Amino acid sequence: MVPKHIAVAIDGPVGAGKSSIARAAAARLGYIYCDTGALYRSVGLYCRRNGVDLKNADEIAAQLGKIKLEIRLVDGTQHVFLNDEDVSEEIRLPEISMAASAVSAVPAVRAALLDLQRNVAANNSAIMDGRDIGTVVLPNAEVKIFLTASPEIRAKRRYDELVAKGKDVKFDDVLRELNERDYADMHRETAPLKQADDAVLADTSELDFEQSVDLVCRIINDKIK
Ligand code: C5P
Repeated sequence: MVPKHIAVAIDGPVGAGKSSIARAAAARLGYIYCDTGALYRSVGLYCRRNGVDLKNADEIAAQLGKIKLEIRLVDGTQHVFLNDEDVSEEIRLPEISMAASAVSAVPAVRAALLDLQRNVAANNSAIMDGRDIGTVVLPNAEVKIFLTASPEIRAKRRYDELVAKGKDVKFDDVLRELNERDYADMHRETAPLKQADDAVLADTSELDFEQSVDLVCRIINDKIK
C-alpha cells in the first residue's frame, strides 16, 4: 500500500518565523516545505510591475488570466515561477509584502491559488505555511500549528534580518508595517488569519530558533504517532 501523505499546516502572523522554522522542521522530518506566501507575493509582484491599482479588487482579479504560477522544487527548495520566470528572490523584497497583503484580500485571487496549494499536499508529505492553511486550504491536515510570538519580538527578528541583508530600515517602521499587515490579514472577509479550532498554539517569544524547530517537530511527532 502507498503510505498516506501527512499534511502539516502552519499558520500565524507576520514574522513569527513560520518559513524558517517550517523549512528546518521539514528538512529534519523529510517533508516537502511549501511557502504559500510566495504565491501571493508573486501575484503582488505581477500587479506592481504592471501598474495595477492595488486598491482596486476588480482590476487585480482581471490580471489572473495573465498570470501563470508554478511551484517547482530546485535542489529540494521551493522556487516560484511567474509566467516561466523564477521570481523567488524578487518576491522577498520588503516592498512586495504590502502588495501581497493587498492582493490576498481579493477572493478571486485566493480561489485561483487553492488548487496549486492543495496539489502540493496531495502529492507529498508537506509542511505548508501561510495564513489560512489549517482553516481553508487543508482543513483536514493531520497536524495544525498556530505559530506566534509577541509583535515586538517578531518585529525585532524581522528588523535584524533586514539589517543583516544590508537594508536601511528603522525598527519603528518594521513594527508598524508588521502590525498593519497583521490587521489587514486578520480582518479581511475571505479566509482571515485565525487559529483553527484544532490547531496547537506555539508561542516562540521565549524560544531561540533551534528550540522553536524542536517544539514544532515535537508537536508533529506527537500528533502522528
Ligand atoms: O507569509 P508572507 O509574509 O510571505 O505572506 C505575504 C502575504 O501574503 C501575507 O501578509 C498575507 O496577506 C498573504 N498570505 C495569505 N495567505 C497565505 C499566505 C500568505 O493571505 N496562506
